[in-house]
Amino acid sequence: MTKTLDQLLTQQSFSREDLIRLLSVKGNDTQKVLDRALQVKAEAVGRKVYLRGLIELSNICAKDCCYCGIRKSNKNVHRYTLSDEEVYAAADFAWQKGFGSLVIQSGELIAPAFTNHIERLLIGIHQRTNAELSITLSCGEQPLEVFKRWHQAGAHRYLLRIESTDRELYYQIHPHNSLHAYEKRIEGLKNLRKAGYQVGTGVMIGLPGQTIENLADDLLFFKSMDLDMIGMGPYIEHAETPLYDRRNLLWPTEERFRMSLLMIAGLRLLMPDINIASSTALETLDPLGRQSGLLAGGNVVMPNLTPVSNRLDYMLYDNKPNLDKDPALSTSSLNEVIEAIGEKICYYEQGNSQHFLKRQG
Ligand code: SAH
Repeated sequence: MTKTLDQLLTQQSFSREDLIRLLSVKGNDTQKVLDRALQVKAEAVGRKVYLRGLIELSNICAKDCCYCGIRKSNKNVHRYTLSDEEVYAAADFAWQKGFGSLVIQSGELIAPAFTNHIERLLIGIHQRTNAELSITLSCGEQPLEVFKRWHQAGAHRYLLRIESTDRELYYQIHPHNSLHAYEKRIEGLKNLRKAGYQVGTGVMIGLPGQTIENLADDLLFFKSMDLDMIGMGPYIEHAETPLYDRRNLLWPTEERFRMSLLMIAGLRLLMPDINIASSTALETLDPLGRQSGLLAGGNVVMPNLTPVSNRLDYMLYDNKPNLDKDPALSTSSLNEVIEAIGEKICYYEQGNSQHFLKRQG
């Protein structure tokens, strides 16, 4: 006899078929899955939310990912790199407001000057904030040596999204060349673990041609790699990218949004004690997206601390939100909206991945 959805939801482990079934629910059953994920989150890590102040350091990028608005070939982007003073001001802001951690994200460059730049910022930030902030880097694929140097300089976590674990789909959204090799991406994740980081990855949801089976396999990949944190969200088209040409294949935005919530929920069921971000891209598709992501099992939000004057230039996708907001504004309202849904922001806490701490023993 096939099991009911209720039976499926109370399982401790999930097969590929189970995950496909979870991700295939429709109508009222969607809410059932999300509710169960919230319950599992509450039991495993509590209804707690950790803040990571996001600093979009630079949009200069050597890569040409077919979905990304700041890809190298997009000539309509004004390229910038924040000054050290701007980065430190954002770090000070996060520290003073009680954010436990920062994310430094950037376009991707493999160059000694870039390595040194990040290293200098890591050391500088820790010096002025008493080494109280945990720092995540999201600066792309780098050689193991560079990962090690940055870890040594005080980066604790690293986010390198695999984007899609399906090799074929991966090459539909990336140029097929050595700079964008699928195997290198996976090796990068393994090297991050070797270098001692809390390791994070993620995928985009609702890519042209992506199937529910692909998404179930993405979740299984996260589990098999024993990852500590995941950031994933809906794919949102950008008019100045090659993937825009395939927009006729996309699911409607409501469906991409719903599937993103189901992915967060499915992941929480599969890996109860990891950190899961409620992504900015969710907010792009729905003004309440951030809250919805938390109610589906997410426990991390990333308020944007990039100076407002640079935000327009870090357009990964069209209609990215909060472009006009001052960082102070977007964080004061945050507490209210998060408490209103029954979650609690943990100020002055780094919010390390429980999963990582347990592995460390
Ligand atoms: N260069 C770094 C990080 C910058 S991009 C790196 O490659 O790791 C950060 C993330 O934004 C990417 O990993 C991707 O998943 C997401 N992103 C980029 N373009 C997007 C789009 N069009 N829609 C949704 N997410 C996108």
